[in-house]
Amino acid sequence: MKSVDAHLADCLEPVSPLSPLSLQLLDALGCSLAEDVVAPYPLPPFDNSAMDGYAVRAEDVTGATEDSPVVLPVTGDLPAGVVSAYALTPGSAVRIMTGAPVPAGADAIVPVELTDQGIARVSVKAPVEVGRHIRRSGDDVSAGDVVLAAGTRLGPRHLGLLAAVGRDRVLARPRPRVVVLSTGSELVEPGQHLGSGQINESNSFMLTAAAQEAGATAFRVGIVADEPQALMNAIEDQLIRADLVITTGGVSKGAYDVVKEVLGRLGTVSFDAVAMQPGLPQGRGTIGPDETPILTFPGNPVSAYVSFEVFGRPVLRKMLGSETLTRPEVRAVCLGSFSSPEGKRQFARGVLSVEEGRYVVRPVTGQASHHVRALGDANAFIVVPEAVTRVVEGSPVTVMVLERRGI
Ligand code: AMP
Ligand code: MG
Repeated sequence: MKSVDAHLADCLEPVSPLSPLSLQLLDALGCSLAEDVVAPYPLPPFDNSAMDGYAVRAEDVTGATEDSPVVLPVTGDLPAGVVSAYALTPGSAVRIMTGAPVPAGADAIVPVELTDQGIARVSVKAPVEVGRHIRRSGDDVSAGDVVLAAGTRLGPRHLGLLAAVGRDRVLARPRPRVVVLSTGSELVEPGQHLGSGQINESNSFMLTAAAQEAGATAFRVGIVADEPQALMNAIEDQLIRADLVITTGGVSKGAYDVVKEVLGRLGTVSFDAVAMQPGLPQGRGTIGPDETPILTFPGNPVSAYVSFEVFGRPVLRKMLGSETLTRPEVRAVCLGSFSSPEGKRQFARGVLSVEEGRYVVRPVTGQASHHVRALGDANAFIVVPEAVTRVVEGSPVTVMVLERRGI
């Protein structure tokens, strides 16, 4: 049997980070930035008001109080987006809205709440210090600052920052395009009538979503019958839009294991028994004129999901140009006992939580590779090393965190 680490290395071997493209901002969400982004101008670009109020010279309102306000003539009105044509003359005020440029000559803003909100004349009921409520040009970003460094994984806040410095496109590694096919003549689309001997196709929904969540653009192809020609046609049709192909089913030792039969003949895809539970039968390689990477996972839903987490996700993360390929792991106290096959790395499904300030993990009930309900309950894998054959209640274990739900 081949080790999990050796198989992962083989899966990663033909894969490189995708070449950067100029992407529109919203298409770059989740992508790895491939340039240092320099601000061409400062932020804010000009001195502007932080409040709705009145632009004044602070020295004109030093003596203002509630009982004896300073009354100033209002010589202008500045909504956001409008620039004052004139400088503020000493002894006057200009009504100003948040975001409007501060007129020359003014050195403070009196918030509207400290005035009578006058139109022609305004009563100012409190003094302000110089600079108060003025957002200075460049107090956030100076022209020439690197606001985002190459390698940043772009999230919503980064896209906002890029737009703020005037970028409508950025150079970033695109999302890998993943095609997910499920093989099995027993499979039926959910929502269709379930005949005898049939089950609903579920793997491709789970893996398409998982790939999407990992940062890919994923296409669900759906069901392909266990017929060599049908599989070849489906793969050939899909290669045009794939940076990675993922299949499930048909890789065991049975008859009608179509994936193994068809792809095994190509000579570019190899099949191995990997020392893990679940997920033992695995295939990987490249196919088609562009040598597109392909991963073939076993069909049992839990096996398919574990395979995606252990092999599929790291491959996608590498394509994305991400530095961390694997899920975070923590040590936790195991609240449950179970056995583990000798010589295989077990990925038992568990629920990780924090109790009394420490991580604890409970194995879910239902650890077979068809137990989809238990998989739905889980938020973590308990990773049991190859040499360990029994995990006893209260012992420390390594846990791969799949989801931060409830933690
Ligand atoms: P296989 O790997 O093709 O031998 O399939 C192993 C088991 O997983 C069988 O019980 C299949 O019916 C089941 N299975 C295969 N593919 C899927 C799928 N896409 N959705 C749900 N169950 C599946
Ligand atoms: Mg099958």
